[in-house]
Amino acid sequence: MRLRSGTRQKADDRPEAPAATPGLAVELRGVRRRYGRGPGAVHALAGVDLALPRGTFTAVMGPSGSGKSTFLQCAAGLDQPSAGSVYLGGTEITGMSENRLTELRRSRLGFVFQAFNLLPSLTVEQNVLLPLRLAGQRQDRRRAAEVLARVGLADKARRRPGELSGGQQQRVAVARALVTGPDVIFADEPTGALDTGTAAEVLGLLRHAVDTPTGSGPQAGGGYAHGATVVMVTHDPAAAAWADQVLFLADGTFAGGLERGSAEQIAARMATLTARTGAMAGAAA
Ligand code: ADP
Repeated sequence: MRLRSGTRQKADDRPEAPAATPGLAVELRGVRRRYGRGPGAVHALAGVDLALPRGTFTAVMGPSGSGKSTFLQCAAGLDQPSAGSVYLGGTEITGMSENRLTELRRSRLGFVFQAFNLLPSLTVEQNVLLPLRLAGQRQDRRRAAEVLARVGLADKARRRPGELSGGQQQRVAVARALVTGPDVIFADEPTGALDTGTAAEVLGLLRHAVDTPTGSGPQAGGGYAHGATVVMVTHDPAAAAWADQVLFLADGTFAGGLERGSAEQIAARMATLTARTGAMAGAAA
């Protein structure tokens, strides 16, 4: 087999994608996701490139239909792009078998959803330990106590989710997302169901997780040599203001960004973008 310079060859002789960039937790290269075929096809993602270093907090915003959910699904290996490559923690996930993807999601990704998604019949501690259980790892109760303490719920380990407030339930979900020391935590509208004060508490916890190294790295004792890496989809400028950078999606591509903006700055940028996208949609109609 002849090796071309700069590319490695797979057994079937197709050139393999170049290796992931070192130091990045999330990398997307030319990611496209098309729904349907022919003239009626929808290009939900129309060529997305992204490089997020470890230990960073990124918010993704955009008008309804701009591709936020599709982006999150493709970036987290819940959906396969039609073209392009996704790397998580240095591993290419595009083209992985469903079994390997499931395994990777369980052991190396954390998820926080708008609706908390805790199992009501399990205790708080059991919910937090669930990712370790599903990944076939030791259910380390000390580790559960540690992450519950980090989210301020050390005394709630034996409670059931139904006995907690919405904000407390979302803090359990954050603890659950932290427990494996994942490469990336994906958060989908994590404050959508919370009031402003409680939302700020939850965002403060995510911010703290990003800012605080807790160990020797993902997978090694469940901590981070850098802080955690968080990618959060939100429509709330106040939530996005907790991030290091805000990226704006419009019509399936990143249409700009903002470093550490205030809620007002982010809202203003969103308004401009939405007006421009609306004008384009109007012109196309
Ligand atoms: P957002 O989360 O920003 O509202 P989505 O990622 O849900 O945007 O959708 C982006 C585009 O893709 C929209 O035009 C939407 O209608 C379309 N879309 C999303 N999912 C599907 C699907 N399963 N089938 C067809 N079109 C879809």
